[in-house]
Amino acid sequence: MRSIHAVSAKIIDGKAIAADVRAEVAEQVAEFRERTGRVPGLATVLVGDDPASAVYVGGKQRACAEVGMTPFDVRLPADASFELVADELARLKRDEQVSGILLQLPVPEHLDGSTLTNMVPPEKDVDGLTPVNTGLLSLGLPGLRSCTPQGVMELLRRTGVALEGAEAVVVGRSNLFGKPMAQLLLAENATVTVCHSRTRDLREVCARADVLIAAVGRPRLIGDGFVKPGAVVIDVGMNRLTPEQAGNKSGLVGDVDFAVASQLASAITPVPGGVGPMTIACLLANTLRAACMQVGLAAPDV
Ligand code: NAP
Repeated sequence: MRSIHAVSAKIIDGKAIAADVRAEVAEQVAEFRERTGRVPGLATVLVGDDPASAVYVGGKQRACAEVGMTPFDVRLPADASFELVADELARLKRDEQVSGILLQLPVPEHLDGSTLTNMVPPEKDVDGLTPVNTGLLSLGLPGLRSCTPQGVMELLRRTGVALEGAEAVVVGRSNLFGKPMAQLLLAENATVTVCHSRTRDLREVCARADVLIAAVGRPRLIGDGFVKPGAVVIDVGMNRLTPEQAGNKSGLVGDVDFAVASQLASAITPVPGGVGPMTIACLLANTLRAACMQVGLAAPDV
């Protein structure tokens, strides 16, 4: 077990903020139904029976129903051919009741997840991962944004963190998180640095940050000497350890050494209960946004 230190940072409560976002989406879904007589729908496509993926998909389905949207739960066998998955995506593309499509990754090894993701039509791409939506983001044009980086932006906005002119450092450059995160911060006029496995002197670069965002997948990498006093620290990492190693019941730890960073930061997200809950909340917001765009209504702000 790790020793308990005094925490001086404000804890950013992702669970509470995600609940607010979900309640706002539920209200806007009701308005959408009243105005259009339609119900936004989210189709999740799960290929195979990976238990973790099945849990994620189940959570998305439930959350969708809770805000008054229609969930479509598409399950395909682990040995489904590329053509079968592609045909299913084409069918969902034509289905007017389906506003958003999410292909759960990873897909089984014999399939090419990236090619299949690119088959999701951009207007239904609620994960924001297709080349069209990625391009719109980098051009600063309206489109569907990747859920987790969008969730981080909501956390920052609702915590009142000023981004204009701030030094923001993102550790991790994945297409899923690091790159879109950097683009969203840039759009808010932060000065953005993106670090990765070849960054020289990661500690020194991180210690410059007013806003430090870690999405690496290395338990407690961001520790001593990485956090500038007063910085805002956002921990995207989700690393599974034993409860003993983690020092908590869930066995989940982030990429940030919370005990160290929380003594220096002005605000920090915990793991679990920080960024995690925001991802599904933003998926719901994206589905509503997609539904609005498809009928020519202005997309809500959430
Ligand atoms: P990823 O695709 O594996 O990317 C990891 C990034 O970290 C890469 O850019 C890699 O650099 C960099 N990296 C690896 N070791 C490093 C080191 N020692 N120093 C500096 N950079 C290093 O992972 P991801 O999909 O972005 O996810 C990252 C973490 O966030 C994971 O723990 C994941 O579970 C979590 N996550 C959480 C959510 C959520 O909903 N909360 C959503 C998405 C991801 P290179 O590019 O040079 O290899």
